[in-house]
Amino acid sequence: MTFAELKLHPGLLAALPTLYQQPTRIQQLAIPVALSGQDVLALAQTGSGKTLAFGLPLLQQIQRQQAQPRALVLVPTRELATQISAVLQPLAQAMDIGIVTLCGGVEQELQLAGLAAGPQLLVATPGRLLDLLEQQLLTPDAITHLVLDEADRLLEMGFWPDIQRILARLPEQRQTLLFSATLPTELDEIATRLLNSPRRIEA
Ligand code: AMP
Repeated sequence: MTFAELKLHPGLLAALPTLYQQPTRIQQLAIPVALSGQDVLALAQTGSGKTLAFGLPLLQQIQRQQAQPRALVLVPTRELATQISAVLQPLAQAMDIGIVTLCGGVEQELQLAGLAAGPQLLVATPGRLLDLLEQQLLTPDAITHLVLDEADRLLEMGFWPDIQRILARLPEQRQTLLFSATLPTELDEIATRLLNSPRRIEA
């Protein structure tokens, strides 16, 4: 299978690294489901190509005319946030979509400058994002796509109360994609509440 067969936008196809000859298994399985608008519960390890499995459909579905956040990727660590933003940046640029990374340990002023540019995609750790929401420095009203990446680690690291407070501020009408390496019972229960008739994918 090729990336073109996944019905990806020509702009995204052109911006993919030429080294990537074909989609990985998680990409083959997750991209068509995510593009159809359905919720996804994906069991995928780091190294499986999961970043593009959620990143490509996000970038394809975001309405870029609006200078407001349309999609939010929540991750457990600053390192992961930085890595995801770096992978998605050239693809976002090809689609004329702005990305900002919001995480602790970085001066809030810098992130506010990033937000002022009107990015459509936010890659964030829960603590900093909640902080910005509570200070009303960020309007989440137009967010229609949410990704929880490394959801098992988000849970392990005690982020769930923060995430619930974030979720309470997001529009209810949205697509949610949950990616996790493992599915402990507690996470399975959360996923059942959070996701709307999700397609379960294992790669
Ligand atoms: P990830 O699981 O998203 O962290 O990706 C793991 C690694 O696989 C990264 O170094 C990616 O650059 C690489 N990668 C992602 N998708 C592909 C692909 N379709 N073909 C080859 N390498 C890929």
